[in-house]
Amino acid sequence: MSRVSTWSLDEWEGKANADERLVTYQLHITLRQAKRIRVGRLAEFLFPAGDYLYTGSARRNLPARVHRHLSRQKKLRWHIDYLLMASSAQITAVGLFSETECCCNQRTNGKILLAGFGASDCRAQCGSHLKYLGGTLGMPVAIGI
Ligand SMILES: [Zn+2]
Repeated sequence: MSRVSTWSLDEWEGKANADERLVTYQLHITLRQAKRIRVGRLAEFLFPAGDYLYTGSARRNLPARVHRHLSRQKKLRWHIDYLLMASSAQITAVGLFSETECCCNQRTNGKILLAGFGASDCRAQCGSHLKYLGGTLGMPVAIGI
C-alpha cells in the first residue's frame, strides 16, 4: 500500500487538522549554502549544502509546532532551531505520520552527519533525528518511505 504522506507548505496544515492520529512530522529542509553553525551546546558544525530531513513529534497541537519551525521569530531552543535560522535554510515540504517519531526516523534513509542532533530525548538509539540526503549535485537522494 502506498499513501501520500508528504505535503506542500500550502497543504500540510489542512491534513494535520483533519486527522488527530498524526503526531509525527518530518521537515524537508534545503540548505542552499554550506554553513558553519553552533548548535546550542551540542557542537559547532559545518553543514554541507543539500537536502535534509528532520523528524520530530508533537502529541498535542502539531500544527502549532510546525508553525514554530516555519517562523524565524523565536527564541532558539531545540537543535533544529539553530539550523533553520540560517538564512539559506528553507523548509520545502512537511511529512505527517501516525507512527512514533523514532519509528519514522529509523526507516528514513540518509546519512547522520552530526550525532545527537535532535535526539536528546531519544531512547531508541536513532543516533540523530536529522538526516542528510545529499546535495543536488553528486550523490543521489534516497528516501526510504
Ligand atoms: Zn529516536
